[in-house]
Amino acid sequence: MADTAPPQAETLRLFFALWPDDATRDALDRVGKCLHPHWGGRRMRADTLHLTLAFLGSLPAESCAALLPRIDVLRAAAFELVLDRAGFWPHNHIGWLGCRDASLPLAALAERLRGELREAGVPFDAQPFLPHVTLLRNATGGRAPSCTPVRWRATDFALIASRTGVDGAHYDVLRRWPLI
Ligand code: ATP
Ligand code: MG
Repeated sequence: MADTAPPQAETLRLFFALWPDDATRDALDRVGKCLHPHWGGRRMRADTLHLTLAFLGSLPAESCAALLPRIDVLRAAAFELVLDRAGFWPHNHIGWLGCRDASLPLAALAERLRGELREAGVPFDAQPFLPHVTLLRNATGGRAPSCTPVRWRATDFALIASRTGVDGAHYDVLRRWPLI
């Protein structure tokens, strides 16, 4: 009898996100630096900062291949976000940055993506969309200092693969699609 396990199909832990340009990344990182002395915890590495649009979790490579042509033909307009609201979630001790005023184009983009996932039969986390950039983990929250708001011109979105390393999560940008 063979003592080797059958080969495992490749799976990736995936999510769609807005992935910042370098200037936006620096600005987001500065807000993390501003919040950190007040809320404690661990700052996210600058290279991990992003805004999740839809979380797919583990997906076989073949499901991913079936999904991508749908995303290729999705057309959505570029938009500007103003990230001016620091928030803290007690249930997971995350300190984050979001928008005081909900962004309709952002919500519409997340909903378009989720619609494509549904149509393609790709499972995803269907919890309500709570747009945020995670800046601190294991934070304590409290009164938020005043930090400089971040203007983010979103001109594309990305499919990201997540790996967990000894020093926290690492994200690989697999593919980007322009917002036009
Ligand atoms: P780690 O889980 O390794 O500590 P992480 O949470 O940053 O790190 P992932 O769990 O792969 O990495 O999550 C990637 C992104 O998707 C993060 O922005 C995370 O907040 C978000 N996310 C993770 N799980 C879910 C979920 N069930 N629903 C919605 N978004 C999620
Ligand atoms: Mg996680």
